Amino acid sequence: MREALPKTEATDLIDQLKQAHQVQKQQIVDQFHDGLFLLTAQLTPLLINETGKSFLEENWFSACPFSQIQAYAQKQNRLRFDLKSWCLQQFESESDATSPLLWLRIPALSKDKCTLVPVLISAVVIQSSEDDGRNLLIQIQDQSLQIQAEAQIRLMEASHAGQFITDAHGYITQPNYAFSAYTGLNPDSLKKITYIEWLQNQVVFRVPFGSVMKALLENGCWNGEVQLTPSSNVEYHAVLSLSMLTDYNRNIEHFIAVLQDITDIRQANNEIKRLAYYDNLTGLANRTLLHNQIETTLDHYPISQSYSGLILLDLDSFRMLNDTLGLEIGDQLLILVSQKLTKLAGPENLVARLEGDEFAILVKEISQNQEEAHTKLLNLAYKAQEAIDDRYTIKNRSLHCTASIGLHLYNQPEVNAHSDELIRYTNMAMHEAKNLGGNQVYQFEERLCKIAQQRLEMLQALNHSELDNEFELYFQPQVDAQGNTVSAETLLRWFHPVLGLVPPAQFIPVAEEGRQIIKIGLWVMHKAFIQAKYWNETYGPFRISINISPIQFHEQSFVELVIGLIKFTQVNPKHITLELTEGVLIRNTNLALQKIQHLVSLGFHISIDDFGTGYSSLSYLQKLPIHELKIDQSFIRHIPDNENDVAIVDSILKLAHNKNLTVVAEGVELESQAAFLREAAPEVLIQGYLYSKPIPAAEFETKFLAQRPKL
Ligand code: C2E
Ligand code: CA
Ligand code: CA
Repeated sequence: MREALPKTEATDLIDQLKQAHQVQKQQIVDQFHDGLFLLTAQLTPLLINETGKSFLEENWFSACPFSQIQAYAQKQNRLRFDLKSWCLQQFESESDATSPLLWLRIPALSKDKCTLVPVLISAVVIQSSEDDGRNLLIQIQDQSLQIQAEAQIRLMEASHAGQFITDAHGYITQPNYAFSAYTGLNPDSLKKITYIEWLQNQVVFRVPFGSVMKALLENGCWNGEVQLTPSSNVEYHAVLSLSMLTDYNRNIEHFIAVLQDITDIRQANNEIKRLAYYDNLTGLANRTLLHNQIETTLDHYPISQSYSGLILLDLDSFRMLNDTLGLEIGDQLLILVSQKLTKLAGPENLVARLEGDEFAILVKEISQNQEEAHTKLLNLAYKAQEAIDDRYTIKNRSLHCTASIGLHLYNQPEVNAHSDELIRYTNMAMHEAKNLGGNQVYQFEERLCKIAQQRLEMLQALNHSELDNEFELYFQPQVDAQGNTVSAETLLRWFHPVLGLVPPAQFIPVAEEGRQIIKIGLWVMHKAFIQAKYWNETYGPFRISINISPIQFHEQSFVELVIGLIKFTQVNPKHITLELTEGVLIRNTNLALQKIQHLVSLGFHISIDDFGTGYSSLSYLQKLPIHELKIDQSFIRHIPDNENDVAIVDSILKLAHNKNLTVVAEGVELESQAAFLREAAPEVLIQGYLYSKPIPAAEFETKFLAQRPKL
């Protein structure tokens, strides 16, 4: 705050004034920036400068100008201050004094009534040598700027943003509290450095430092995101605004900085990004990010001219594993696999989890040379296959996992399509790997598009198929040691007017996917029930096995539909065996168990088809009221030569014997196979080309039933 005019200067001023004539006098006082009043003992004005006049009403000619001025000791509650008395008091005490901060109402500004100007008023009593009277020199200093500055400093201090002002040389003069806190430097040490030194020590810019300074000096300001590193282990993200203040001649007066901490916003943004682009469980990229990055490789092709590659991986039997061992173990397995893939792919490539147990590796810009790019991509796919094919220990359980892998090498001109197309192609390759039994690597080829097309056609054909016209039940005999055909399995045949004879191995999976299997399965049961009733009534006890798809079995109304069919056909369920695969029991085990119990209570027999190929074979056998095991063809094919298969078949036969179950060996083509089986277990039933291929009902009847004595 500026000092009032010292006594000596005031005296000098008076002396000067005395020697000057009236016009000069006014000129002398008008030079002062503050309001000046030279008054007599009666407070009659002798001289008032221009600034002084601005505090008065226009018609101020009065004995005492101060009786007009409205002064307040407090701004808020308008506590009046008697300026005239105060002046007289100073005059009497003959001491120099400065008032407390006062608020003056300035007439010129007070059209809106609130304009009060903060001032300090000082009074100096001057002994006049000539006319031996005494004069009073009153000086009114406008404090608006000071008050504003103080308020600003208070605001600065209260602000959470770091702020400082420098002097003209760039030395930090007014760092606020927040700035000290962010930088870890106390105000004293900050005041010893220039703002440039601070920028260079603690601030990491995303753009060259030179360009920041250039913008600041040329445009007067710079704004941008920076990283603040006050020490090696502390880091903030902040928005820094630097401004330069100059006078009218463009001389630098101050630099001002505001530092806004955005670490939290940054973290929140990162979190949003993570949720949008990353998989929560594994932390890998998600489908969206994979799409984006594929598009980037396509867009970048004109520059890179490089081939990129996509690998899709799907874990084999993951669903079964998840269902039997629980989601938690499933999740852990996914995490372990994701770690292996991340390590394998390296930082330059992208590993993503698309959904469930499906992963992808995007191998970016491998090479401009197709041959080389292809080899590299293939190698990586094989490495991934090898890495996943492993034993995993999770929660003290050891489990084995493999993957089916599809890959596709692409470049922009060839694909001429989008990420969707590319993922679809690679997916076809992956499905082909799965169809071939899993744990394989398969490359996309045009042929797969044709297969996919055929599948689509088949799906449409199934939708429009007329069951009675296009489908037929075939029967394959099951023969005991005495050569008697005691039972038969029904196997469905589809004769499509255009597609021809479509094997069930092809259309059943499609019908399961499209859920037409529910209608088809019902039709099969209906026909087979009628057939069973007729043959039993005509030729005596004869059992018919029917394949039941898991999709059909899991239908809520399955048991009710079967009961309806029993009533409708009048079949005796005792003559029917329902073949279920192990997979049926894995989903909703308890519900599946209840359904099986219900079916058994109706009189059906239950057979486990393809026994030995499933995931866990023995545990559920204890719980289930089953009657029969069918040894899968894959074990029969290489007996009696393959020791492994012999051992498996042996143990299944023993198990069945112990549990008193019927065993059917299917896919028996050779006498040697039959001989081995009968030797090991005389009660085994044999089904296979050795006796007959599946044949139509009429043919079956003639060949295998007609020679029975008719009832
Ligand atoms: P599956 O239940 O394992 O049926 C046995 C398959 O092995 C049949 O194939 C049969 O023709 C074939 N087979 C029988 N003996 C021999 C042999 O000695 N050598 C060889 N190489 N194969 C033999 P198919 O009829 O092509 O049926 C394939 C699969 O389609 C069946 O496997 C079954 O899973 C399914 N399927 C067939 N009919 C139906 C049905 O009506 N409903 C349902 N849900 N699935 C059916
Ligand atoms: Ca079967
Ligand atoms: Ca089978």
